[in-house]
Amino acid sequence: MNFLETRVLIVGGGPAGATAGRFLAASGVDCIILERHPRRTKPCGGGIPCGAFEELQLPENLIKKKVCALRVSPPKSTPFEICFQSGYIGIVERQEFDSALREMAQAQGARLLDGEFLCFLPPENGRCDDHIVCEAVSGGERLEVRSELVIAADGVNSRVRTALGMKPMASLYTLGAKLPAGGTMGNSCEFYFGRFATGGYSWIFPGGASVSAGTGSTDPRKLKPAYERLLSEKGVPPEAAAAPGPRGYRIPLWEGQPLVREKEKVLFAGDSAGLVMPFTFEGIYYAMRAGQLAAQAIAEGDLGLYGKLWRQRFRSRFLLMKGLWRIFLTTEAGTEALISAFRDERVQQMGIKLWLDKTSGRGTLASFINVLRKRVLF
Ligand SMILES: Cc1cc2nc3c(=O)[nH]c(=O)nc-3n(C[C@H](O)[C@H](O)[C@H](O)COP(=O)(O)OP(=O)(O)OC[C@H]3O[C@@H](n4cnc5c(N)ncnc54)[C@H](O)[C@@H]3O)c2cc1C
Repeated sequence: MNFLETRVLIVGGGPAGATAGRFLAASGVDCIILERHPRRTKPCGGGIPCGAFEELQLPENLIKKKVCALRVSPPKSTPFEICFQSGYIGIVERQEFDSALREMAQAQGARLLDGEFLCFLPPENGRCDDHIVCEAVSGGERLEVRSELVIAADGVNSRVRTALGMKPMASLYTLGAKLPAGGTMGNSCEFYFGRFATGGYSWIFPGGASVSAGTGSTDPRKLKPAYERLLSEKGVPPEAAAAPGPRGYRIPLWEGQPLVREKEKVLFAGDSAGLVMPFTFEGIYYAMRAGQLAAQAIAEGDLGLYGKLWRQRFRSRFLLMKGLWRIFLTTEAGTEALISAFRDERVQQMGIKLWLDKTSGRGTLASFINVLRKRVLF
C-alpha cells in the first residue's frame, strides 16, 4: 500500500473539484485532486452563461459556439424565439473544458492524481481526531491518502456520500446523444416542453460539428419515447446518433442537501451536493462557484462560511426556480401558462439577464418575480 498526505483531498476533478483545487492552491492550501476518468467526456449540453467566463476568469477560447437565441416549443401553442439583447450562452466540449480547469488548478500548485476514491478507512485504522484516511486505487495500486479535510466533488453518483451512509439523491433522468449539426439544428438552443418530456424538457444544444440532443424526465420510463419523438420532430434517423449512441445519466434535484458534515470534515460541492438549478437544470456554473466558495471557507479556516456564502448568493434563486418547477412544470396546463409568459419581451429579457449574469442582485430577482406573477396570474 502506498501513502500520500495532503491538507485537502478533493474527490473528483470535474467543474466543482477542479475549481476547488484551483482556488485552494491559489490561497496556498496544499491539495490533491483525485480524478478517476481524466479522459472521459461527461454526457452534457455544455451550455455556460457568458457571465461565468468573466466571473471565474475562464479562457474564452474554450467556447465552441456562442449562442444568442433560444427557440422554445410550449406544450400546445406555436414555438417562438427569444433573441438576447446582449450576452450569450457559451457551449463548451466537456472533456476539453474539464481538462482545462484541472490544468488551471495544477498551474496554481494543486496536485492531480489519476485514481479512484474507494472508501474511508475505519476509525481504528486511520481516523483520529484531526485526520481522515481515504483508500483509493491509482495505476492498479492501492493507496492511502491522509488529509485534514475532504471535498466531495464526485458527481451525482457520489461514492463519498455512499461511504458516509447518506441516501442517494432524487434526480431527473436524462437520455441524450450527439447528432450531426445541420438543417434547422445548430444555431440556437432549443427547448421542447409537454409531450417531449414529463417534469422536464427535451433539448437541442449546438456545439461545433455536432449538436447535443436529449430529454430529461422525472419518470425514466418516459425517456425513450420522448427522445424518439424529438428525433422524429427534427427528421433525424435514430442511427444518426454518434457512437456509443444515446446514453442515460442523472441530474440531481436540489433539496437543500447539506454542504458540510463538520464532524466528518467533509464538504460537498457541485452535483454531489445537489447544486443544480431547479427547472433549468444548469449545473456547471453552480458546481464551479460551489468549489470556489468551499475553497474560500477552508482558506479562511471557517467551514461554516461555505454554507453561509452559498445561501447569501444563491438560495433565493434556487427557491424561486424550485417553486416555479413544482407549480408549473409538473402539469401540461401549468407548463403552457408559464412558458407562454415568455412571449412577453419584458419577461424574456429579465429572465435572460438573470440567467446570463448571476451577479445581478436581489432587486433584479424581485422585479422578475413581480413581472412574471402579473403575466402568469392575470
Ligand atoms: C445530459 C446532461 C446535460 C447537461 N447539460 C448541462 C448544460 O448544458 N449546462 C449546465 O450548466 N449543466 C448541464 N448539466 C449538468 C452538469 O453536467 C453538472 O451539473 C456538472 O457537470 C456538475 O459538475 P461536478 O463537478 O459537480 O460533477 P461532474 O461533472 O459529474 O464531475 C465529477 C467528477 O468526479 C469524478 N469521480 C466520480 N467518482 C469518483 C471517484 N470515486 N473517485 C475519483 N473521481 C471520481 C468523475 O470522473 C467526474 O470527473 C447536464 C447534465 C446532464 C446529465
